[in-house]
Amino acid sequence: VKIGVASETANGEKRVALTPETCGKLVKTGAEVVAERGLGRGAHFPDDVYAAAGAKLVDDAAAALSDADLVFCVQPPDNARIALLKQGATLVGGVQPEADSARAEALRGRGIITFPLERLPRTTRAQAMDVLSSQAGMAGYKATLIAAELAPRFFPMLTTAAGTIRPSKVLIIGAGVAGLQAIATAKRLGAQVEGFDVRPETREQIESLGGRFLDLGVSAAGEGGYARQLTDEERAEQQRRLGEHLKSVDVIVCTAAVPGRPAPKIISAEMVGMMRPGSVIVDLAAESGGNCALTVPGDAIETDGGVTVAGPLGLASMGALHASEMYARNVYNFASLLLGEGALTFDWEDELLAKTVWPPRDAATTG
Ligand code: NAD
Repeated sequence: VKIGVASETANGEKRVALTPETCGKLVKTGAEVVAERGLGRGAHFPDDVYAAAGAKLVDDAAAALSDADLVFCVQPPDNARIALLKQGATLVGGVQPEADSARAEALRGRGIITFPLERLPRTTRAQAMDVLSSQAGMAGYKATLIAAELAPRFFPMLTTAAGTIRPSKVLIIGAGVAGLQAIATAKRLGAQVEGFDVRPETREQIESLGGRFLDLGVSAAGEGGYARQLTDEERAEQQRRLGEHLKSVDVIVCTAAVPGRPAPKIISAEMVGMMRPGSVIVDLAAESGGNCALTVPGDAIETDGGVTVAGPLGLASMGALHASEMYARNVYNFASLLLGEGALTFDWEDELLAKTVWPPRDAATTG
């Protein structure tokens, strides 16, 4: 089996879907791994380390991809890149085919068997392949560090000769994978941490990290362990209680998301107006529109009332080395399902393959 990996095409993306570690493991399975020179530069994996792990280094993306049976990526490849793929090749990674009709068309046109890892069912067996979780962990961590950096306050309590500094009160909205990591990070920095989520089981998870569960009286567990969208009444109740509470919060990290929908708008402009000067909001949900009405994706603004609202993008890429290590292991674990003796095999009885593949199996003719 010939595996090809080229540098990412998305702007500013530093992560890679193949690390020297996973390259070595793939070579051990008997696969031939071809990598574009400079592939791991952004994530600090030098070419010679890939070469030592058994990769064949080539000068450009075309040379890495045009003959590959199996191709890995972190972000969706652009259409010029898709055009380089061999007819009928298999593509594994964060492809998001349905986010862009031209991309979907390009993939269909070349008969690419795509496994967009964001479609992977989130079962226990799939955990080792779950890129959403591994990357959300880094995003939550970085979001809290950005908040600490922007805040004009200390996070921890200090007792000094110049008097006592009270700890910052940090509120994490949404306690999924990113939110829990944000809570753990804020806690380690010494802040007083609160979290809330609409899934009731998060209370225990927040408390186990040393956070306080903020009860806003709204519970909205949906399908598959995810949250559902709130009704108008639930939203109004959540906002009323939250608005009152925000007057005493120094830092907010927003991470709330509902699968397949724009991020829920939780913090209105009016609520930001009620916060004290010097407060900071970091909106990790900026990528899908933001949880705060004032969020400008990719930018940080300061309101007239002295509240900083930041909507950083590409958070996982900011920790490219470890994020890539985890991402590449996820990809390697998934690829292991496909790597047969000398050829790719597709066991469509395996739900991890059958439910992840795109175009979806019922629409596809593959047998
Ligand atoms: P996500 O990114 O879709 O959402 C982030 C969080 O926002 C979720 O906890 C959600 O409940 C919350 N949220 C949505 N609307 C909200 C609102 N209006 N107010 C406050 N919070 C709101 O979620 P995720 O982090 O990808 O994971 C969600 C769930 O899936 C978690 O229970 C997680 O443990 C579970 N999960 C399971 C597996 C597995 O078993 N393999 C893997 C990953 C995640």
